[in-house]
Amino acid sequence: MRPAALSYLASRSDILGTSHRKPPVRELIGRVQSMLAELYDLPDGYEVVLGNGGASLVWDMATFSLVEEKSSHGVFGEFSRKFAAAAKGSPFLADPDIVEAPAGTVALPKVGDADTYAWAHNETSTGVIAKVERLGEGLMLVDGTSAAGGTTLDVGETDLYYFSPQKNFSSDGGVWLAFASPAAIERAAKVEESGRYVPQILNFNAALSNSRKQQTLNTPSIATMLLMESQLRWMLDLGGLEAVAKRCRRSSNILYRWAEAHTFAAPFVQKAEDRSPVIATIDLDASIDATYLISVLRDNGILDVDPYRSLGRNQLRIGCYASVDPEDIEALTDCLNYVVERL
Ligand SMILES: *Cc1c(COP(=O)(O)O)cnc(C)c1O
Repeated sequence: MRPAALSYLASRSDILGTSHRKPPVRELIGRVQSMLAELYDLPDGYEVVLGNGGASLVWDMATFSLVEEKSSHGVFGEFSRKFAAAAKGSPFLADPDIVEAPAGTVALPKVGDADTYAWAHNETSTGVIAKVERLGEGLMLVDGTSAAGGTTLDVGETDLYYFSPQKNFSSDGGVWLAFASPAAIERAAKVEESGRYVPQILNFNAALSNSRKQQTLNTPSIATMLLMESQLRWMLDLGGLEAVAKRCRRSSNILYRWAEAHTFAAPFVQKAEDRSPVIATIDLDASIDATYLISVLRDNGILDVDPYRSLGRNQLRIGCYASVDPEDIEALTDCLNYVVERL
């Protein structure tokens, strides 16, 4: 988190503790919505919708509220897998189509008779970025959680591009935000009219009608929204999404180039175009114990460069989110060299 965002939060004691039905909070939600629309140059008819629960909740919400009969999933890591599992577990949907790819590669959903297609823009678990473009007829639901605010996107290629604010937006968790197309809005109304039981907290229509009033169904974390507001303003001042994406790409490229320049390291993702600009995964040679290396870094104040736990690789995974200074990434590679030379 940028220190300036934390100072901004501390300075807004006038709003912390206010009911979310009161104008100051609704105005705050409205500012976040309009800055997101500006950052993403939102196409006509698209709306910024939000609610409590985070991106994980959206998988269940979409299963209840947006998939009509059948979904099709691209699974290439832990996050895209969870959405596929939610759809598969649903008693009122047909078995989903699932295309699964080995870790470190991309899987896009199979085009067939599904009415909804789902995949992740960026698999945070493996450091793989996927294309975002329309695959067929139906709704395109794209998990943008670690990509949003760190890489460019044509929102018109999606019907629900959803994300949590704790990654590139350097805020806290607990909220989901989404760009919803007219088709997604229409679909949710149709599903509700069909008479399906939809719990309120998982009802997209309830989230939409609250969002249109700059509110959420139930009380949101105001601190989360203030941090998000500060980050959005910073991103727009920096020059918008292109500028932020360039900054993230610069950070991750430092790491990929570092890995390629050393015999003991290599980018985990083989195909250069699949390498994430926001999450760099670097494999280490078996002669270097990554767990030990990470513990030495930790003892020296360099935290959280661990691989995704269930991937089980001898690997480093480094967040190159918008707030991370590329100079710090450069310094990290110097630290890595220093430690590795002394192992
Ligand atoms: C972090 C992450 C999530 C989970 O977000 P929560 O806010 O914890 O629900 C989902 N998808 C992706 C791609 C993520 O990176």
